[in-house]
Amino acid sequence: MKLCKISVFHKQLPLKDPYWLSGGRLKFETLDATFVKLETDAGLVGWGEGTPWGHTYVPAHGPGIRAGLETLAAALLGLDPRQLETVERAMDKTLPGHLYVKQPVDMACWDILGQATDLSISDLLGGRRSTGTPAASSVSSGKPDYMMGIIESYRERGYVAHSAKVGGSDTSADIERIRHIETNRKPGEIILYDVNRAWTRREASLVMNAVADLGVTFEQPGETLDDIAQIRSVTTSPISVDESLVTLQDATRIARDGLADVFGIKLNRVGGLTKARRMRDVAIAHGIQMFIMATGGSVMADIEAAHLAQSIPDEFIQACWSCQDMLSVDIAPGRGARCEAGFITVDDSPGLGVAPDESLLGDPIAVYAV
Ligand code: MG
Repeated sequence: MKLCKISVFHKQLPLKDPYWLSGGRLKFETLDATFVKLETDAGLVGWGEGTPWGHTYVPAHGPGIRAGLETLAAALLGLDPRQLETVERAMDKTLPGHLYVKQPVDMACWDILGQATDLSISDLLGGRRSTGTPAASSVSSGKPDYMMGIIESYRERGYVAHSAKVGGSDTSADIERIRHIETNRKPGEIILYDVNRAWTRREASLVMNAVADLGVTFEQPGETLDDIAQIRSVTTSPISVDESLVTLQDATRIARDGLADVFGIKLNRVGGLTKARRMRDVAIAHGIQMFIMATGGSVMADIEAAHLAQSIPDEFIQACWSCQDMLSVDIAPGRGARCEAGFITVDDSPGLGVAPDESLLGDPIAVYAV
């Protein structure tokens, strides 16, 4: 089986509401999405989606995905998409780094492998758990009552997991936010306080030690792994790392040096499922739990993340973030697994289990073929 055609689509995915993170430092109103359609000489079609969370969040650039695909296309055409690691090596050799460019290609290859074997991606990843994965809300940073209002609106839809954005330079305001939300936390709820790298080492130490009695988990409380190592040494609260978890070497360093208790694995950032599953296995081998996320995007990106989340044993999964509810457009109406009653559960459809409605994507902006 050979790849014979690559079609690239560009779509803006507007957010229903403006979104603030990093203590209000960063604002997002729309996501720049790239959809990739891979076609094979056997007639199988696989879909991928690459949607960075804007271009100010981490080094990932929506237009860069399209530019990168132009560079990769010639090296991809003619390969067997079922040979995931051959495709991975070809991409890494042709375009070192730029993992966010490779993830939608990797995703479409998994989709094709699943269809070729009549197995879902989660079954290919080792087998689905019987339970669904709690979907995490994403709570934009703001005043304590504003944030509780968002959490309450998600609770009404069954959500039990929440990622609350903190990380302002006003440390007393962050302490107030965290204490207010914890006072209103319901039994069994999972709440992660996501700093998104906004704190200096001093600010992290001040806030985390001021609320150490609560035992809450902080995500990415510093900019780099060196910062997090230092913060770890002067605090006791559990730590999750996501923006600094990019490569397998990051994962092994975090595990070996005990820098974090939770991996936040974002598929677009780490380059797709082929690379993410190795991080999953490092986490399980070291007693590290996981949050699984696409980074952003439509129901397709959510489902890719859900397949990985569904392959993780219950004791190691915290939640899987779902972005689809935050968008004002749906490129696959009525298709694919949806977030229901706060849980996301993939079915046993072969491959990804969802394809976009192509009429909603418009014409491809580029087509590469042999
Ligand atoms: Mg995060």
